[in-house]
Amino acid sequence: MSLMGTNNIFDIDDDKLKEECGVFGIFAHDEAASLTALGLHALQHRGQEATGIVSFDGDDFHAHRAAKMVASAFGDPRVMRTLTGDIAIGHNRYSTSGDTTPRNIQPLYADLSFGGFAMAHNGNLTNANTLRRALVQKGALFQSTSDTEVIIHLMALAAEKNPFDKMVSALKKIEGAYSLVACAKGFLIGARDPHGVRPLVLGRLEHEGGVSHVLTSESCALDIVGATLVREVEPGEVVVIDNKGVHSHRPFDKKPPKFCIFEYIYFARPDSLMEGNSVYQIRKNIGAELAREAPCAQADLVVPVPDSGVPAAIGYAAEAGIPFDLGIIRSHYVGRTFIQPSEATRNLGVKMKHNANQALIEGKKVVLVDDSIVRGTTSKKIVEMVRAAGATEVHMRISSPPTSHSCFYGIDTPSKEGLMAHRMDVDEICAHIGADSLSYISVDGLYRAVGEAKRNMDEPQYCDACFTGDYAVARLDHENASTNDKVTDLREGQN
Ligand code: AMP
Repeated sequence: MSLMGTNNIFDIDDDKLKEECGVFGIFAHDEAASLTALGLHALQHRGQEATGIVSFDGDDFHAHRAAKMVASAFGDPRVMRTLTGDIAIGHNRYSTSGDTTPRNIQPLYADLSFGGFAMAHNGNLTNANTLRRALVQKGALFQSTSDTEVIIHLMALAAEKNPFDKMVSALKKIEGAYSLVACAKGFLIGARDPHGVRPLVLGRLEHEGGVSHVLTSESCALDIVGATLVREVEPGEVVVIDNKGVHSHRPFDKKPPKFCIFEYIYFARPDSLMEGNSVYQIRKNIGAELAREAPCAQADLVVPVPDSGVPAAIGYAAEAGIPFDLGIIRSHYVGRTFIQPSEATRNLGVKMKHNANQALIEGKKVVLVDDSIVRGTTSKKIVEMVRAAGATEVHMRISSPPTSHSCFYGIDTPSKEGLMAHRMDVDEICAHIGADSLSYISVDGLYRAVGEAKRNMDEPQYCDACFTGDYAVARLDHENASTNDKVTDLREGQN
């Protein structure tokens, strides 16, 4: 049996490469690791399977990684005392594989020719297998199944001397989605792929000791450490932070921006700002659009599936003029049901997490609002539960278009076959979940909610592949083996 739980060191199966993550990095703060732990805590929703911090004290790097939630991994002061230094980066991870070997927990660390280097990655590379195969043939000894490690091996091989140049050389060979934070002696580096699929923001923290800079996935992680949002790291931008300040580089060819529209629908925290927009407000806008597209005049109540359905339900209720009420109560002491490992425990998880507020719902015609139907487990259970509590009609409204395609860029979705909207049309799904009616927001309605007149069919303004199958970034490993030749040239210094 192989050490990493894969029998084929060349090809890691698609699901093992799927990860949802949050990243945080801070430069020039005496309490760098503590602030990083706080930032990761604010980003817990982006990954609950494992977490890690690497700090640098000017001489040495220190690391702590654990397959735990942030509070339990970094709640022990003895752990925090080991993470000394004024630069730190951190990572939260969730992967579908269940392959939580300690070596897959980020930030990854390596001793490269210039010294120590640590990196944390949010996103998925789409040519990781192709590159991995070429690197292994060249003698690379992979320690993990993480696609992020490919970047580090590419850096090790690059002829360039300094961390920035080596990193850019490696990034020019990778395809897919990445928002990265990395640190080396004297530097914090952030990079966002040319399409800007996953978020990354720059923040500034003024304190008695001076000014510190932060790079992180979402602005809610700046809020928690008292930093202010300076701006987003732009698609294709590499930001280097050192003692002289913040330096911006654009080493890649410009590509059309393709920010992940699902961040607005579900993934980001509603108190975050993305592209200058309040995520909360966008979710309310989606709810209002949904009320216009799919009204339900006879309903007595609009009930959100908490927590993710709440802002859209508020928007729906306000637009429809129907009272909003909490007809489902959520227990906050269970994790996200979606991430339970087996079908049986996932089913159980739905009941542990949500309970119908019978006193409110009994005898009512209810509009339920949720953000998405993925496998369909949640909606079916929720509809059953609301009916069992005495609702006379249950109308389901979903604040995303049908999730019909798998994500290869950093959102955990099952393979296509596992997606209810891939196998069934809307009427079939409605019958399956047992609702009286079911409507999803249209793709154009979603675009209107994020401030566009409509989806540009020639060049969509966002990555919406999970709803349209329109994959903006090449999926080399998945569908185009012939392009392997293009990316396997790993000669030193080759871009
Ligand atoms: P399902 O039972 O598979 O249909 O799960 C749908 C529920 O999972 C929705 O209510 C969403 O709030 C939530 N959800 C959607 N996408 C994700 C994701 N990528 N990770 C975790 N939860 C999700």
